[in-house]
Amino acid sequence: MPDRYKSVLLFGAPGAGKGTQGRILGEIPGFYHFACGDVFRRINPRSELGRIFFEYSSRGELVPDAMTIQMWAESLHAYEVLGDYKPQTDLLILDGIPRTADQATLIEKHIEPLLVIHLKCSDREAMIERLRRRALKENRIDDADDNVIQRRWDVYERETAPVLAHYDSSLIVDVSSEGSPAQVLSQILRFVVPIQNEHFQGFEA
Ligand code: ADP
Repeated sequence: MPDRYKSVLLFGAPGAGKGTQGRILGEIPGFYHFACGDVFRRINPRSELGRIFFEYSSRGELVPDAMTIQMWAESLHAYEVLGDYKPQTDLLILDGIPRTADQATLIEKHIEPLLVIHLKCSDREAMIERLRRRALKENRIDDADDNVIQRRWDVYERETAPVLAHYDSSLIVDVSSEGSPAQVLSQILRFVVPIQNEHFQGFEA
């Protein structure tokens, strides 16, 4: 399968810090951060897709798979056309996709996964607390209600956690999400920098 997007997958439970780490990485030349939830939130809420997104996300549920992959592929293509994402020089950091086994299968023809970073946190309460704080700070309806947070966790455990098994264990690395963002970042860079050096030479800042 030629010309698949070279990708690193950020994987972890809600509140593990995927978004924080992805955003920091995305600031570094040669990385492009794509957060599926962020792109969904930018869709016009009056459009058909915007309405569907609201319907599912407000309940803490996942948007149906085919629709999600189509939205993802179309947006990434648009960013490529605009020159924001340059597949020849940028390592794609995927955050929040794939989240189901079917998404993992559907996305396969588009991406070449080089690494799966599993952000792990043993303290479930700490992650839930992080979601509550973010809800206040970012005005996020999906995390404002404890029942919805609970639902998002259940969905993660039932649908998303099994996605790890889709990838060869040699691609998966565990990184502890406990500690400061800088500490977590330094762990992630230990794995990601060699991948960037191996696959991309002479990228421009
Ligand atoms: P999280 O805080 O869990 O990282 P996101 O910001 O990534 O949440 O996503 C917000 C909402 O967008 C999800 O609750 C879900 O409804 C929808 N969503 C995001 N990514 C996906 C995906 N890969 N598949 C289906 N739905 C998604």
